[in-house]
Amino acid sequence: MPFASLKLHPALLRGIKDLGFIRPTGIQGEAIPAAMSGRDVLACAQTGSGKTAAFLLPILNGLIDGPRGKTRALVLAPTRELAAQILEDLKDLATHTPVSGASVFGGVGHGPQEHAFRSGVDVIIATPGRLLDHLRAPYAKLDHIKYLVLDEADRMLDMGFLPEIRKILRYLPQRRQTMFFSATMPPPIRALANDMLHHPVSIERERQGGTPVGITQAIYPVSQELKSALLVALLQRGDIKQALVFTRTKHRANRLADYLVRAGVKADRIHGNRSQTQRTAALAGFKSGRIPVLVATDIAARGIDVEELGHVVNFDVPLAAEDYIHRIGRTGRAEATGEAYTFVSPQEQGELAAIERAVGRKLPRVTVPDFDYSARPQAKLEVPIAQRIAEIRARKAEERRRRDEKSARANGPHRGHRPHGQGQGQGQGQAQGQGQGQSQGQGHSQGQGHDDQNRPHSRHRRRFRPRRHRS
Ligand code: AMP
Repeated sequence: MPFASLKLHPALLRGIKDLGFIRPTGIQGEAIPAAMSGRDVLACAQTGSGKTAAFLLPILNGLIDGPRGKTRALVLAPTRELAAQILEDLKDLATHTPVSGASVFGGVGHGPQEHAFRSGVDVIIATPGRLLDHLRAPYAKLDHIKYLVLDEADRMLDMGFLPEIRKILRYLPQRRQTMFFSATMPPPIRALANDMLHHPVSIERERQGGTPVGITQAIYPVSQELKSALLVALLQRGDIKQALVFTRTKHRANRLADYLVRAGVKADRIHGNRSQTQRTAALAGFKSGRIPVLVATDIAARGIDVEELGHVVNFDVPLAAEDYIHRIGRTGRAEATGEAYTFVSPQEQGELAAIERAVGRKLPRVTVPDFDYSARPQAKLEVPIAQRIAEIRARKAEERRRRDEKSARANGPHRGHRPHGQGQGQGQGQAQGQGQGQSQGQGHSQGQGHDDQNRPHSRHRRRFRPRRHRS
């Protein structure tokens, strides 16, 4: 079936052609006609199935010849990356149309987002938390919403967003068309769908828990300590050209990325502790192909859409079988092919068994011929908790020392001119601290907050600093 048979506006067909899409994917073939007929849609569809265009195209088609200046469509997505990705897809598909879109998510400034609300951008693509922040202000109005999309609803559930979603629904008109997409349909998601949808067309592209065709899955049994070396070996053999590598924790993502860089692999990381700027830069490097390996945690990797991504590596076996399905959906996008490797240590056999139950078959085991499985274990990626705490304490002490030195420098020239005990518009405690800095630490107990636990050390340093300079 060609796109032309879907009766889409010619300007959209041009956009589709520019993108090089030849025919609709399965989900698009079913969802687009249903949505264009005005029905609500409940779609059980995997990431990578072409679901984004499946909801964007009917919305764009409905908005293209309509009035401008009011927000008519709202797409809710669980993560910033996914929201940004949907906006990119919208801009591509709408390139020959007057329809505008904007994304609304945390970690970036409010200003441009407020402007999007005030100017009545046609489509807003938002994560729930930041959207609710805006909705508390008078400029944010969603009274004219005709189309609502809930994307990756099961992930919204995992991330605890369901209460926020229910709050957001109160700001929307009752009369609207709703499209609901989820890779899996656990009972709370079914319940939410029942509340949100009216006589929906139900589309179940894949069996629940099924994985997209076109993805070759393999299990690499290996000890926990040799996983890093195995990954480097596979990269060096050329078995993997570009890979999204999943670890269970942010800390492991950092340590693995560092390990890879030390081994000469161009790698970056993306996880929730990184700033939005760092996340965007890492993703851009990966998408452009400049960085062949991106190490990610589950949440941060949502919405990562890299054309022709050949490999997903589950460096750690995910705890939930659903995460496995989401992870490997990053490859084999839009009915292309891809490979998903899962490194499984003896301790992770239980999780693997759950995954095999979910995908409905036993996955093939692979051993790498030249890899020394009996090599001496390398340093663990996990740093013992005591060591981590010691590192954090040392870092904090260093930060405090610098801060103290800076303020000592800043305050130094005034010292001789300021009467002791008279703060110049500053808090009592601080003035005392300065005034008594030369004597034996009585100021410490007066008016100092718990932030200053290490102050005796810093005062000590400050007192001896001039001598250090002299020597
Ligand atoms: P999605 O499931 O929406 O994240 O889409 C996965 C990928 O498929 C994206 O890179 C889309 O650009 C691409 N895509 C969507 N629809 C089609 C299509 N009809 N033909 C080829 N690629 C497509």
